[in-house]
Amino acid sequence: MGLFADVILPVPFETFTYAVPTEMEQQVVEGSRVLVQLGKTKTYAGIVLRLHAQPPADVQIKSIMQVLDAEPIVTQGQFRFWQWIATYYLSPLGDVYKAAFPGILKKAPTGGTKRKGRRKDEALLLSSIEDEGERVSRLNPVQQQAYDAIQESWQTKSITLLHGVTSSGKTEIYIHLILQCIREGKQVLYLLPEIALTTQITERLRKVFGDRLGVYHSKFSDKDRAEVYQRQLSDEPFDVILGVRSSVFLPFQRLGLVIVDEEHETSYKQHDPAPRYHARSAAIMLAQQCGAKTLLGTATPSIETYYLAQQGRYGYVALTQRFANMQLPHIEVVDIKRLKFQKRMKGAFSPRLLEEIGQALERKEQVILFQNRRGFSSFVQCKQCGWVPRCQHCDVSLTYHKKMNNLSCHYCGKVYPLPPQCPECGNKDFGSIGTGTEKIEEQIHKFFPQARVSRMDLDTAKTRAAYEKIIDEFAHFESDILIGTQMVSKGLDFDNVSVVGILDADTMLNIPDFRSYERSFHTLAQVAGRAGRKNRVGKVILQTRSADAPIIQYVMDNDYASMFREQVEERQLFHYPPFYRIIYVYLRHRDNALLQHLAEEMARTLRQSFGDRVLGPDRPVVSRVQSMHIRKIIIKMENGASPSAVRAALVQAQNYMLSIPVAVNLHIYYDVDPQ
Ligand code: ADP
Ligand code: ZN
Ligand code: ZN
Repeated sequence: MGLFADVILPVPFETFTYAVPTEMEQQVVEGSRVLVQLGKTKTYAGIVLRLHAQPPADVQIKSIMQVLDAEPIVTQGQFRFWQWIATYYLSPLGDVYKAAFPGILKKAPTGGTKRKGRRKDEALLLSSIEDEGERVSRLNPVQQQAYDAIQESWQTKSITLLHGVTSSGKTEIYIHLILQCIREGKQVLYLLPEIALTTQITERLRKVFGDRLGVYHSKFSDKDRAEVYQRQLSDEPFDVILGVRSSVFLPFQRLGLVIVDEEHETSYKQHDPAPRYHARSAAIMLAQQCGAKTLLGTATPSIETYYLAQQGRYGYVALTQRFANMQLPHIEVVDIKRLKFQKRMKGAFSPRLLEEIGQALERKEQVILFQNRRGFSSFVQCKQCGWVPRCQHCDVSLTYHKKMNNLSCHYCGKVYPLPPQCPECGNKDFGSIGTGTEKIEEQIHKFFPQARVSRMDLDTAKTRAAYEKIIDEFAHFESDILIGTQMVSKGLDFDNVSVVGILDADTMLNIPDFRSYERSFHTLAQVAGRAGRKNRVGKVILQTRSADAPIIQYVMDNDYASMFREQVEERQLFHYPPFYRIIYVYLRHRDNALLQHLAEEMARTLRQSFGDRVLGPDRPVVSRVQSMHIRKIIIKMENGASPSAVRAALVQAQNYMLSIPVAVNLHIYYDVDPQ
């Protein structure tokens, strides 16, 4: 007879079967970690998915070396969730395990003892909200109405959208909903995009929830994250988890509510590595599996979410007033095309923007200058022949860093010295293209030598500590002007900011992607939302070359509905979400010619199942990374199509491709619902 275990290992496969030695039969349980060997030399801590008595066909079966946990470390509920992720995002269970587990638990045996939870302020939440005036603000009547509407909408729909303008008090409402959920003895998952998870929000929640709050962040050490994970399995888990994307993988024993704040944020989608999951969709699924409610909150809903709310699939609650009658900022559009023609631009600045900055500084108020991330990279170019340095391993131009006087690749991270002369023509004169945040800082120093300036971008805010230091300085008015990318627009509350300058709205609009229009609206509206003080209307100067584009008007009027109407029409016409589901199929290989051939074969195979829903193969925008060439095939499926049928057809095509002898080193992977 004998007992066998299907084990998930942190490698891109489903499961491996091992024999359970007789002396371990009493110890091993489904969901516990076991030490096993893979191949000749590698040992891993794997997770037992299933125990059974069917010996596999393979005679050379290895045995489990050691049982690491006396009790399951992955619950059956989590397995169900992992399976959903694996199936929907077309990613093997091994990859899900890798994403789901803090590294330390995948590697060294830690003894497997459960941590005892500790709870210092037992009495904290037992009193009513009314007695907690110290820590919890009372909702104003408008907010209370929204709170009630959310509770009511949950009676019939488990997912509700809270569409509330910036500073309307969404976070206050979340706090009250969380309190209610805890009173009912349930747990809460509060998701934020990576970039928005600052000390500001943590402190705000800590004040109310004390030790009942656990924070889960990708920049925390593996050890800290493992501690949170273990605590969630213990008898006294955190009641509230505030976390980023990956916290959907934490164990929850009695999840009652999931909040997805800034639900429109595209950074909720994992790009690399697999599983390329969307944390909003994953959170909705998790809540559904646990019988919990979901609240999606934002000032600018994603087209997908708003569409589902309009269709009546999600509940919908709106908040149209800012707290304490704070006014929405006044947005002024400046046509930089005309100004450039008239030679009236001063570097990246229009006279209007300079004037507003000057006045704000005089009034001792603060300024935020926003430069879109895609537009902030600086490139160098030969002034003679136009040569641009590129990465040797990737198909991208290198970014120039003035301070370090070097070039670096944003894809593989390789750093290059600036060449002494152009390899094409020998010219020694290089110029830079694109206006980086560095260059903007330089210009600001020239125009306003007295101003204290902080700059936030990938160079200055490499670490979490550096990022928070910049935010902190600005929040404490130790700097007057904050220059930054999208990083400055998220979840931050600065009440001394009266002017926001958007230096160039066009870099966003011109990105060739079906979402660029929607994203531009989100970003512009969110950035604009940073302006405004309690007693003064904030001012936003929006510089653009497309002053007549409808989207600019929608941003000015804060007219989400019109933007939405226009976009859904287009999406329907061109077969995009929310009407169609998109799947990218990627193929990678070192040999470019062979890859082209294989990609065409794959597309042909896919067309047998999907017909003309298949587009390509094409080269993606970046078609070579770390010396691997890439091809992309696009599949557009009608919304009603069954995900499991789609998966079956894809797996079949993939297996066929990998059976072709020359395709040995072909790598195939998927991006479902790409952002
Ligand atoms: P949002 O999440 O919608 O951007 P916040 O919840 O952050 O809005 O509220 C914006 C600001 O107004 C915050 O500083 C918050 O403390 C304050 N505020 C909102 N509602 C209340 C309330 N009911 N009582 C006291 N302060 C509030
Ligand atoms: Zn040259
Ligand atoms: Zn590179």
